[in-house]
Amino acid sequence: MDSFHQILLDWYHQQKRNLPWRNTKNPYLIWLSEVILQQTRVNQGLSYYVRFASTWPDVSSLAASHEDEVLKMWQGLGYYSRARNLHEAAKQIVEKYDGLFPSDMDELLNIKGIGEYTAAAIASIAFGKAVAVVDGNVYRVLSRLFAVETPVNGKGAKEVFASLAAEMLYTADPGTYNQAIMEFGALQCVPKKPNCPKCPLNARCLAFSRKQSAYFPVKIPKKNVTERFFNYLIILTKDSPINKVHIRKRHGNDIWKGLFEFPLIETTGLCSFNELSTMDQWKRLTGNQKYLFLGQSTTYKHRLTHRLIHARFFIIQTDKKLDLANDFNLSLVDQNELGKYAFPRLIDKFLIETDGLNKVIN
Ligand code: SF4
Repeated sequence: MDSFHQILLDWYHQQKRNLPWRNTKNPYLIWLSEVILQQTRVNQGLSYYVRFASTWPDVSSLAASHEDEVLKMWQGLGYYSRARNLHEAAKQIVEKYDGLFPSDMDELLNIKGIGEYTAAAIASIAFGKAVAVVDGNVYRVLSRLFAVETPVNGKGAKEVFASLAAEMLYTADPGTYNQAIMEFGALQCVPKKPNCPKCPLNARCLAFSRKQSAYFPVKIPKKNVTERFFNYLIILTKDSPINKVHIRKRHGNDIWKGLFEFPLIETTGLCSFNELSTMDQWKRLTGNQKYLFLGQSTTYKHRLTHRLIHARFFIIQTDKKLDLANDFNLSLVDQNELGKYAFPRLIDKFLIETDGLNKVIN
């Protein structure tokens, strides 16, 4: 073992966090943890992992579940396509591979939602294959160690870093090495102000020797964020003893596909109730029905990768189901059963703050 690998692996054995997926070579559990941890902090993902792994302890049980249950359990993690793909992939593994994960990279890459990173993690950690993982942490560590000028989010970065990662791989134990370099990036070589004087690899780090740790990794500045304005209509229908609410399932091919929402009117800026209620979309939705305006929420801000959503919730009450509910794919559900449905994080936040609408109605 050369000294780079020795130092990194020693550091890992002493410093690594004790996480449940570190104690297994079960490909299903490794896959589950990797999917949950994409774009999610470990602290947040941990409880989701524990819940998923105890509800569906193997790929067959996950495949046998309903997509709505998976989305519901995923609620709050965001990027819901990961949950839909997880469920699809579980079915694929049961149907095509009899419930046994393949160990081959090409076959893994054919499974829904499994990209190069996840395939490399499963192949190396579960099956000991000599493939390097390249995630954001690995990009950062390598770019600093070797003072790589290629922007990590630019053209050609993938090839440059994949080849460097493959060169640095410790082939005698690729699974442990891959986990070690990712953990090193997460705990030691952190994005802001890494503690370089205390770093065990500083004698081998070009960025440190040039006093340029803050300069690497090189990044092309991000595109401007587009702002969008969502006006959700909470249309309550009086029904004794429990009020009913109109919701609908999103079918469009976007990040919230399969989740539920309230009827939505998108506008080009923030709107008051008076402005909104004179719009054609509003009139089409409410038809000739009489309603009582109960109030509106403050503005909720929700940031997605290139979008900033400003959302407001307007609450009205009608005496009966909307005439045009079917045209808008709306279903009428009990207000006290809203918790059963998977909503995007933005709506969920509003429902939590209003105690499932109780605070805005009473
Ligand atoms: S010396 Fe600093 S920049 Fe270099 S690997 Fe260590 S923590 Fe990262």
